[in-house]
Amino acid sequence: MTIQRLFVVALLAGLPAAACDKAPPAAEAAPLATRPDKADPKDWCAPHNVPESMCTQCNPELVDRYKAAGDFCTAHGYPESVCPQCHPLEPPEGHGGHGHEEHK
Ligand SMILES: [Zn+2]
Ligand SMILES: [Zn+2]
Repeated sequence: MTIQRLFVVALLAGLPAAACDKAPPAAEAAPLATRPDKADPKDWCAPHNVPESMCTQCNPELVDRYKAAGDFCTAHGYPESVCPQCHPLEPPEGHGGHGHEEHK
């Protein structure tokens, strides 16, 4: 009768240790940025209309990483998830965004 109880205690005691076994993977490089919910004015490449941290035109070394991640638009040369042609992100305030077009 008590053996059953001991078994349960041992099982419960064993669980947290097992859960702690996996160490988080070492970050070799900064993780790739992914499409944000909205454009961040502090991280915006106005000439290319993509977040600066994801701008493969300004940061060509990102190209291979986005390609490897399967998030790259070869037609336009940007990460697919923020490609200004395929998946344009609305520019943040103060970057000549929406509403008033003044170049006539
Ligand atoms: Zn750029
Ligand atoms: Zn595209």
